[in-house]
Amino acid sequence: MGKPTGFLEYNRETGKNVDPKDRIKDYNEFHLHLSEKEQRCQGARCMDCGVPFCQSGVILKGMVSGCPLNNLIPEWNELVYTGTWHQAYNRLKKTNSFPEFTARVCPAPCESACTCGLNGDPVAIKENEYAIVERAYKNGLAAPNPPKLRTGKKVAVIGSGPAGLAAADQLNKRGHSVTVLEREDRIGGLLMYGIPNMKLEKQIIDRKVDIMKEEGVSFVTGVDAGKSRRAKELLKEFDRIILACGASNPRDLKVPGRDGEEIYFAVDFLKSTTKSLLNSNMQDKSYISAKGKHVLVIGGGDTGNDCVGTAIRHGCASVTQLEMMPKLPENRTPDNSWPEWPKVLKTDYGQEESIAVFGKDPRVYQTTVKEFLKDKSGKVVKAVLMSLEPKKDEKTGRMTMEPVSGSEKEVPADLVLIAAGFLGAQSYVAEAFGVKMDGRTNIETVNGKYKTNVDKVFAAGDMRRGQSLVVWAIREGREAAREVDASLMGYSNLA
Ligand SMILES: Cc1cc2nc3c(=O)[nH]c(=O)nc-3n(C[C@H](O)[C@H](O)[C@H](O)COP(=O)(O)OP(=O)(O)OC[C@H]3O[C@@H](n4cnc5c(N)ncnc54)[C@H](O)[C@@H]3O)c2cc1C
Ligand code: SF4
Repeated sequence: MGKPTGFLEYNRETGKNVDPKDRIKDYNEFHLHLSEKEQRCQGARCMDCGVPFCQSGVILKGMVSGCPLNNLIPEWNELVYTGTWHQAYNRLKKTNSFPEFTARVCPAPCESACTCGLNGDPVAIKENEYAIVERAYKNGLAAPNPPKLRTGKKVAVIGSGPAGLAAADQLNKRGHSVTVLEREDRIGGLLMYGIPNMKLEKQIIDRKVDIMKEEGVSFVTGVDAGKSRRAKELLKEFDRIILACGASNPRDLKVPGRDGEEIYFAVDFLKSTTKSLLNSNMQDKSYISAKGKHVLVIGGGDTGNDCVGTAIRHGCASVTQLEMMPKLPENRTPDNSWPEWPKVLKTDYGQEESIAVFGKDPRVYQTTVKEFLKDKSGKVVKAVLMSLEPKKDEKTGRMTMEPVSGSEKEVPADLVLIAAGFLGAQSYVAEAFGVKMDGRTNIETVNGKYKTNVDKVFAAGDMRRGQSLVVWAIREGREAAREVDASLMGYSNLA
């Protein structure tokens, strides 16, 4: 422990956010950071509690508790306190391939499991991580470090999201020749074309990809590896293949009027904004625009929140976000104790911005859409909403949300964004490689590991575990890399 009395002497401090009314003027990251001196005090708050739940990454009641990468958090907290930044970076890099991504977008299950948070505020772990990695870039510690020897083995990674990138990075470090194939025009998967720029500026991805290129990883964009001829060629050309294509099948809404114009899936909307931002600073007007529109976002989760923040930046006339489930409590309930993931109300950046601009939280709970109404040209103009109430199924004991009859009401809606979750991976890639899928349309692997039913073919990330988080995708990519390495070399020394 760096400072035994640190948690008594210093309060938790985190960087401030730019005021919502100012930050909506652009698409830049808006979270500011502490000075070095302030950050070191935050490192000092770590109690080195002896049983660091923060780094456990276990599943409790179906939710993660602690860091899924098992980051060596107490160790680097101490090194932050002592200002030993170089060593802190070395410890961080041992377990996390991309702290520059997680330090920006991770929901930090480490912090909700921090012992200091049991009876006070948790250590600001995520911001310590940010300080370590960004200082490493500033001081030249993150420079390219290509492997000294090559094994002569060739691995293709299909998909360049965090799972594919982590696998590629690890296998390249081991000396294998890695080619990443991506069907989009840019590398990064949902880091690039899902998560908005204000959460993760895209030059942060390019900065890391450039380093990986210098270290020897090949990247090929605009290639759909799911075409069956190409799959056969790849199986012939490469010693191993890792499928990391994500879980991009969106859950749709089956209601009358769904075929109306101006009804889109959330990721299509978010992607069009990022593409236009990167290509032309929004000047090409090629994006799905919310300007002047009454926007209805269906889905109260994080993706829905990203849609709210983006629609506000476009200059929408209003924004409403529908959530089927009841509003969460402000504090943990007795059956949701520490160190479980806290099921509590969170007001995210988009919702804060709606409060600042429109004077209200956009979320409407226990509500869904019964029907969309269109004008003569086929454009959506209104939505018929309906309230829901929880009901217990007597037989199964399960709670379901049932419609309340007579609760229907019409609201204006001239842009609808469906952010209702994802239903697994696209099956055509699995079919092309002859790989089995499970009942949830995720790729099936042997004994919960990464090898599929096809010799030489492995799977990782959302494509294997279903829609998840960046931190899990990185873990999957690293573990798949270790399995691939062992299958090629007879053993693996990858962490
Ligand atoms: C809008 C949105 C916001 C999110 N925000 C967060 C967040 O803030 N924090 C967080 O932790 N998680 C967030 N997530 C979840 C997170 O982004 C994913 O869990 C993570 O990116 C999954 O990584 P992956 O590598 O498995 O797949 P993906 O990131 O989905 O990458 C898969 C890649 O494979 C490519 N691909 C697919 N098929 C082929 C093919 N046939 N040939 C070649 N390439 C192919 C795709 O184009 C894509 O680039 C968010 C998700 C969404 C949708
Ligand atoms: S990757 Fe996420 S869970 Fe792990 S230490 Fe960083 S912020 Fe915490």
